[in-house]
Amino acid sequence: MQQVARFEKVTPITQTARMAAAVHGGRAKCLQRLVRLGFNVPTTVALSFDAVHEIARGKAPPVGEILAPFGPAPLLCVRPSSLDQDWGGPSAILNIGMNDARHAALCDSIGEEAANALYLRFIQSYAEHVSRLDPDLFLLPDAPSAEAVAAMRETYEEEMEEPFPEAPQVQLAEVLRSMARAWEGTSARLLRQSKGAPADAGLGLVVQAMALGVGPGESGSGVIGFVDPETGEPQITGRYLRQSQGREALSAASGALYLTNDPRGPSLEECAPEAFAELRAAGDLCRQRLREEMQVEFTIESGRIAILDAVRLPRAPKAAVKIAVSLASEGIIPEAEAVMRIPPVALTALLHRQVDPAAERDIVARGIAASPGAATGRLVLTAEEAEASAGRGEPAILIRRETSPEDIRGMQAARAIVTIRGGVTSHAAVIGRGIGLPCVVGAGDLSIDRQGQVLAPGGRRLKPGDWVTVDGTTGEIIAGEVRLVEAGLDDSFRTLLAWADAERDIGVRANADTPGDAEVARRFQAEGIGLCRTEHMFFEDGRIGLMREVIFSETDEESAAVLSRLLPLQRGDFIRLFEIMGGRPVCIRLFDPPLHEFLPTDTRGLKDMAVMLGKPHAEVKARVEALSEYNPMLGMRGVRLGIAVPQIYEMQARAIFEAAIEAGRAGAPVVPEIMIPLVSAAREVEVVKAMIEAVAAAVRSETGDMVEYRLGVMVETPRAALRAADIAQHASFLSFGTNDLTQMTYGLSRDDAGRFMSAYIRRGVYEEDPFHLLDTEGVGELLQIGAARGRKGRPDVTLAICGEHGGSPRAIAFCRGEGFTYVSCSPYRVPLARLAAAQLAIAERRTAAELPA
Ligand code: PEP
Ligand code: MG
Repeated sequence: MQQVARFEKVTPITQTARMAAAVHGGRAKCLQRLVRLGFNVPTTVALSFDAVHEIARGKAPPVGEILAPFGPAPLLCVRPSSLDQDWGGPSAILNIGMNDARHAALCDSIGEEAANALYLRFIQSYAEHVSRLDPDLFLLPDAPSAEAVAAMRETYEEEMEEPFPEAPQVQLAEVLRSMARAWEGTSARLLRQSKGAPADAGLGLVVQAMALGVGPGESGSGVIGFVDPETGEPQITGRYLRQSQGREALSAASGALYLTNDPRGPSLEECAPEAFAELRAAGDLCRQRLREEMQVEFTIESGRIAILDAVRLPRAPKAAVKIAVSLASEGIIPEAEAVMRIPPVALTALLHRQVDPAAERDIVARGIAASPGAATGRLVLTAEEAEASAGRGEPAILIRRETSPEDIRGMQAARAIVTIRGGVTSHAAVIGRGIGLPCVVGAGDLSIDRQGQVLAPGGRRLKPGDWVTVDGTTGEIIAGEVRLVEAGLDDSFRTLLAWADAERDIGVRANADTPGDAEVARRFQAEGIGLCRTEHMFFEDGRIGLMREVIFSETDEESAAVLSRLLPLQRGDFIRLFEIMGGRPVCIRLFDPPLHEFLPTDTRGLKDMAVMLGKPHAEVKARVEALSEYNPMLGMRGVRLGIAVPQIYEMQARAIFEAAIEAGRAGAPVVPEIMIPLVSAAREVEVVKAMIEAVAAAVRSETGDMVEYRLGVMVETPRAALRAADIAQHASFLSFGTNDLTQMTYGLSRDDAGRFMSAYIRRGVYEEDPFHLLDTEGVGELLQIGAARGRKGRPDVTLAICGEHGGSPRAIAFCRGEGFTYVSCSPYRVPLARLAAAQLAIAERRTAAELPA
């Protein structure tokens, strides 16, 4: 029978004590490792999560048991020890056990001033953190005199209306109680949950004998790290302060020494070279044996070093990647472990500029963080102004109620986009992520008034030309020009992703509409294009006019003539895409949006269009009205348009085939993938397939070239998922468009859901915005049904996802679990997807290895 592990609630930390991070917390477990490494660690006792939880529930702290190893007159500190140090915890409390008797003894051993200083610090932190008194009443005096101690005690006793506790047992019990309760408070819980802690995360505590750092000879305390926390490059960091305790050296206004020799001032290396050398050796040992870059807290007592604590060095994402790669390159950890150590979302910060974490933020409004990164520029309110600004070399921030395809050029010219309406799959959000532009959507607290000024909460106004900063990572709109830090793509980043690729077992492609997108996709090593939304090519310079001519054509001949002018342009686009992708698969989606998206919405635009088309304004207006639909997203778009106006799909198919032949002649052979959008019936696929095959046959006979291609279907209506068996008979691949599929499964408009989404999430109606995080239950069930039925109809059908969810770890886990061949996501999410996919494969392998055979 397997032995059930038993852990004591109170455990003195020794080399052999039974301890685990999941029971006592990471700090306690790390202290045991430090003891095992032979460091001089003061006597320490660990309290388990269970013990602390019982104290929070009202059980008396087991003070007698805890104090047993510390002798008759203990002087102690207590520190929090949660499973993950990033989850935070209550502040450490030092010098527990200080009382009049101890003070008198310390006056003899370390001198009166030093003893007074310790007593003052203890009363101060006890008052603030245990008795929760106003910290302003307990400021440390300039001179630690006996009078100052008496005055501070008196203040405490007046405020509490009881004597300051003298007994170490009472002090310790109160400290433990206050720390246990603080952990269970609402704000602490919400804070750690925001950092990924589970709702029932436990807190352990470590009670340690104080190493004073105060007294005769070289005495003090400090904190040392061995790499730069921003870059991860080797560098000694931290400070040492004589006659100090805890982490005071880091916050001291003056007097702290540098650790290593430094032109800015005196250092520990100069003043106590042996102690410094010992610390350096300790750092090396920690790195080798704890397999991590640690930050070590130490004291020096009359020249002797004690190691009090070591935590994982807090680090910026760039440093995290560098450290993981260095540890693996030196053989300290396996490459797979390095891959597991980086949370995929941390890569986001490396791909884009970010607001400097140290910069002040004057936040004007908040919205949904729709595309990460930050940018600063002058406010503009129209796409034209954004283009004009870019033309003048001035960075522009475009704020719109919402964007439409007409705005595309202005969006490309802007540094960042803000929309007042819309959710994470709105036009602005999709384009922003596609081109790596910071974007905040659904900033509903903003409005634009008649004078063309942006009104913000609190009566604030932003005028065109004002400097603003947009943080698409946090969803903040900030007044003024805020300092940014550059993106951190470097060799370590590339190495880590190469290791990830070696582990990954699901493909990662990019959604790329333009040659620019495709170049980014290749830079991030996407294995192909999983979705090229061809309509975006029609909004380029000069082409929107041709599209309008197609829409206003009165005869088939007329529209054929205009489409023949669009053909070479579209062919040119595809040639560039095929060239950039160098023979890798490129999946081109046929035209999808409703035609009205190509038409102007305002009177002035209509008039200009009438002039351009040479038609009477009234006639143009009537045609626009005739085209308008009550529900355009459910109207004549996608395959429906392809069947109703076949000339557009025919032109696109011809452009694809001719481009494939031309690109294939010059480079690697190209087998294009053609995808039909918004399918809901197998017959739609049959009709379009016949149409495309006819074009292929025509191109074959005209050129004498082989025209090979794969035809697939975008599964983005619930019916397509349900009828996938029939549909797959005519399709060699099925790619799930989870944006529309989510919209149609919930009956929730992609473009309007932003208005109430935050209220829904706040009230717990939805766990998360389903356009952001794949709804694995409802939409997921449709994916499962679609995948299973698709395979039934065609066992070798390729399955993929190309909605915006495709880059999120949750969707990747789901699709991998269902045996999909690849995911496709915005180019800037490709690295994140590669890493997340690798972590899933490694985690699965590790779980399998742990299972008994
Ligand atoms: C989708 O619907 O999931 C999709 C990828 O297409 P689009 O966002 O262009 O509608
Ligand atoms: Mg769609």
